[in-house]
Amino acid sequence: MKTGQVILVGAGPGDPGLLTIKGRQAIASAEVVVYDRLVSQAILDMIPPEAERINVGKESSHHIMPQEQINTLLLEKARSGKRVVRLKGGDPFLFGRGGEELELLAQHGIPFQEIPGITSAIAVPAYGGIPVTHRDFCSSLHIITGHQRAGKPLDIRFDALVQAGGTLVFLMGVAALSNICSGLLQAGMAPDMPAAVVERGTTPAQRPILATISTLPAVAEAEQVKSPSIIIVGKVCSLSSQFDWFDKLPLKGQNIIVTRPKERAGTLSNRLRALGAEVTEFPCIETVPCVPCQELDLAVEQIDSYEWLTFTSPAGVSTLMGLLLRTGRDVRALGRIKIAAIGPGTDRELRKYGLRADLIPTVYDGAHLGEALCEARPQGPVLIVRAQLGTPALTEALERNHIPYEDVRCYETRYPCSEAEQIHNLLEQETPPIVTFTSASTVTGFVSALGNADYSRIIAACIGAQTEAEAKKYHLHTITAKEATIESLIERIMEGV
Ligand code: SAH
Repeated sequence: MKTGQVILVGAGPGDPGLLTIKGRQAIASAEVVVYDRLVSQAILDMIPPEAERINVGKESSHHIMPQEQINTLLLEKARSGKRVVRLKGGDPFLFGRGGEELELLAQHGIPFQEIPGITSAIAVPAYGGIPVTHRDFCSSLHIITGHQRAGKPLDIRFDALVQAGGTLVFLMGVAALSNICSGLLQAGMAPDMPAAVVERGTTPAQRPILATISTLPAVAEAEQVKSPSIIIVGKVCSLSSQFDWFDKLPLKGQNIIVTRPKERAGTLSNRLRALGAEVTEFPCIETVPCVPCQELDLAVEQIDSYEWLTFTSPAGVSTLMGLLLRTGRDVRALGRIKIAAIGPGTDRELRKYGLRADLIPTVYDGAHLGEALCEARPQGPVLIVRAQLGTPALTEALERNHIPYEDVRCYETRYPCSEAEQIHNLLEQETPPIVTFTSASTVTGFVSALGNADYSRIIAACIGAQTEAEAKKYHLHTITAKEATIESLIERIMEGV
């Protein structure tokens, strides 16, 4: 039997972009992933579907697995030959009990590795606009646990901390906040020393609260600060009003649902996240190539008889390329044919295969693509490679101009039955989410996945007129991109509702 191993991976403080490259690689090759409650959904989505996932920190049901049991679980899974990733919030070795988890493995000679993570102790202040050190203010940083065992006093040397004069960062300190502040005051800290709490830092729900060491407990109570939060004490906190970049992002706190197929959601989701939005991916369509597709095969055989090859989506490009590769051919089989693409997204897909579009219409839809082809005055027939449910607008334009064409329908759009509970919850929130629709079929897929929901409060951000028309059928409130591109859609969302 192959020997298993355990890789402790730091998942970072919340923002999925703060996972390390090495951590992501470890997750991608995991057979078992054991994770805690603070690990973000977007990182959990990176776990390969065939890997076993074990949540050892289910907070909702208070089923947090005892530490010894976690240690044994890791040992058993590794012993059975599995490649185990143990995913922990922040950095595994900073108040993360990572060391304890390795002890048992070391005793049993199980191979292990540790991939450090970005710790909340530094990243959360940073996202709150607080650099933990600054030459003008301090020369040390102290990271302290504020965890208080039931019935016991805090085990913190307040006098030593006050004397050192550095920045103090407390983790797990929400419950003991007033004890921490009074401990520091009693040890002689100036009552007007700046102090801050940052709740759910680095996530779209981040909430920074600024005060002084004497006022912080009352302010935090009034604001009902909850865990996970970081407490920062020191003059550096005064810099936050200047450096508070994350909370000023244009889409900060806005919930956005991305309905694109899984393999295409990444760019849109990441760009929205970079603007501060809370993104939930809910793929409402998937494209499935028709295999075998004799029509397409035949068209490729006779490729020299066509003048133009036309694609109306990236899926058309990947379907054709898939066919070529599957049948022992490659792009050279396309010879010197000219290529038309409906828009820049399709052109980008072409470039992956070393091709580029000779023609892209000024407006990215079927009708304009048809017009643009006519204007190019083809001498020979046009080969169209597209979805089974393609718009008639494209071929109508060709017919009006008596241009011969072959319309090959070679992939199908399906509506996967995704788990819609999370989406229903989002729809019920006080500020309903914006739902992005990048094709009319994503609207159909969304509506069929959700069934009888109240759509009247949803804002549908649509990529173009056809998508908008589909959304209006279901009485969604729509906003529509000026141009049918992801950039334009994002701009429209930023302009507001
Ligand atoms: N190993 C982790 C810390 C685990 S202890 C790390 O390196 O970050 C858990 C504590 O971390 C929480 O009680 C809270 O104080 C802090 N924490 C973790 N994630 C946080 C976040 N996103 N925002 C604020 N505090 C966070």
